[in-house]
Amino acid sequence: MPRPSRRTHSLRRIYVKTPGGRTVIHYEKRKPDYAKCAICKKPLNAVPRERASKLRRLPKSRKRPNRPFGGTLCSSCMREEIKARVRKEFPI
Ligand SMILES: [Zn+2]
Repeated sequence: MPRPSRRTHSLRRIYVKTPGGRTVIHYEKRKPDYAKCAICKKPLNAVPRERASKLRRLPKSRKRPNRPFGGTLCSSCMREEIKARVRKEFPI
């Protein structure tokens, strides 16, 4: 029986096989939800779904796409946003 603080479904269980062949359960906090586009709310690609402590170990280039608004807007919304800003700055 796990200790009382671990008898909850707010922790996810990870079954880890040890070198001796035993299977032990590791308890970890659940992953956050997918990063979503700020305009259309679609899940963003190439943005890892991890807790901040694991994201800290990743290089910057693996945390979000390397383009304007990368990690905030999806690629199609980014295109529309840039077009809208240019049209606002240079009206016909
Ligand atoms: Zn979008």
